[in-house]
Amino acid sequence: MSANALIIDGYVDEPACLGVPPYISPYIRTVAGVFATHGIETRYITIDQIREDPRILAPIPGAIAVMIAGVTVPGKYLGGTPATRTEIQQVGTRLRGMDRLIAGPVGFGYSRGGGERAVRKTIAGFDHFLSGSPAEALDSWLSGGATQGDHSYSRSDPWAVAGSSIIRQHPSYPSIMCEIETARGCAREVAGGCSFCTEPFYGRPRYRAIDGIYDEISALSAAGARHFRLGRQPDLLTFNAGPGEFPRPQPDLIGELFRAVRSAAPGLRTLHIDNINPGTLARHEEAGRQALEEIVRYHTPGDVAAFGMETADPIVVQRNNLKAGPDEVMHAIQIVNEVGGDRKEGIPELLPGLNFIAGLAGETKNTFFLNEQFLARVLASGLLVRRVNIRQLMPFEGTRAYLDNVLGKHASQFRAFKEHVRKNFDLMMLKRVFPVGTILREIVIEEQGALSFGRQMGSYPILAGIPIRLTKRTILDAVVVDHGMRSITALPVPVEVNLLPIPALKWIPGISPTTAARISGARPLPGLAAFHAIAGTTPIDQLLSFTYPSAQ
Ligand code: SF4
Repeated sequence: MSANALIIDGYVDEPACLGVPPYISPYIRTVAGVFATHGIETRYITIDQIREDPRILAPIPGAIAVMIAGVTVPGKYLGGTPATRTEIQQVGTRLRGMDRLIAGPVGFGYSRGGGERAVRKTIAGFDHFLSGSPAEALDSWLSGGATQGDHSYSRSDPWAVAGSSIIRQHPSYPSIMCEIETARGCAREVAGGCSFCTEPFYGRPRYRAIDGIYDEISALSAAGARHFRLGRQPDLLTFNAGPGEFPRPQPDLIGELFRAVRSAAPGLRTLHIDNINPGTLARHEEAGRQALEEIVRYHTPGDVAAFGMETADPIVVQRNNLKAGPDEVMHAIQIVNEVGGDRKEGIPELLPGLNFIAGLAGETKNTFFLNEQFLARVLASGLLVRRVNIRQLMPFEGTRAYLDNVLGKHASQFRAFKEHVRKNFDLMMLKRVFPVGTILREIVIEEQGALSFGRQMGSYPILAGIPIRLTKRTILDAVVVDHGMRSITALPVPVEVNLLPIPALKWIPGISPTTAARISGARPLPGLAAFHAIAGTTPIDQLLSFTYPSAQ
């Protein structure tokens, strides 16, 4: 039977929601659920599939197409590339003959990337924009009403369940991360929110009932999902925590939420989080600490609490109404390290990640110096930070930063700051977080080549370069053997000395190209003693294996 509806995933990335592969956003699943509830069969395709083979975009006469797209935070992606404005319009134009609807954060505006204002313009090629909540607006339109809908969890929870099986059509299935919504809107909206952020556009925070989350995750699990991130919310610590700009975390509720997820998906492989407001942790240390302990009790290791720090310059913090000053962020980093710094399965349980933004009002050349000093303090204190993201402001109409910013004024300082961090912070920190010998489980290969690239499923997983030609979507365990500034090099475990391609042999730690050539000439080696006789000991001796090549 052919589909009567087509969902085109142009991918979304917002301060509190990610839907770029391997992530699939809640928008896709709830919109699919609306179609299912109306008895309409739905086909799902992604913008990357269209790029690979434009013929899959053939219009279905009389059917309905919904495209979901929009990036309101600039990012770099490996698993997919969000649709550009031109591509979105081309998709709409090619679907002539269908009812063409567009939805998602693209309605807030479009920019080609950080450092450029996002302009709000009508998107050509489509008949209607689904404003407000995409699922609510679609339901309204299908019922003969307006193309606008206000969000309500009591209505969208059943759609989330009904649309869960759409994940099976994702090209990366079953290696997909389901971004799970627990809240919408930021508590700091009462104080105006951060100057640059689009999350306050969603209004006062609304929290989802645990029952609704349980039902959705049960349905996703039944559909084959094994990887989940409680990522669609601005601050997981304040889940259902009540009113105010910095509500006090409720550790019991966080525990209840995570227990519900675990019981809904007993076979899950990944359970991670995303945003944590460092201002919440600094203001409510004890409750925040207990809430983090609940997270660590139920999540899976390698997790990241992303801190939107933005700057270490108190003047910029004040001018932009940011959530925390540098001392508060430092305190929050310490708390997360104390609760989440222990290793499980070789990797730290939960570490902070830091986001910086350049171009905010009040920024001067000194801002970059203060940022560097802050990171130097983190390094000197022996703390762990999973990653530092440095971006340029992408201001949206309706935010204060749209008119009040210093975009483009410190371009050379921005570049120098990035370079400084790569060289003087990232490399050192990567060696601390993922020392040689660390085993990374279940890496999924996303880019194939002589050097294949992959990542674990999770929140901000480290990029692993594996010097072996591997097929896309291969899943393997690998051991860290070297560090780049933003990635690590890894070899599959066990490390098969007799089977590895020669260029990969030299990545065994402590093996020079000359020694690699000698090993290659002496293969097959009978065992570790023969290996030691040529190469000496290595930090990964216990992972070396000496399987003989099979005679063909
Ligand atoms: S705390 Fe600031 S950056 Fe975070 S969601 Fe709220 S307004 Fe946005």
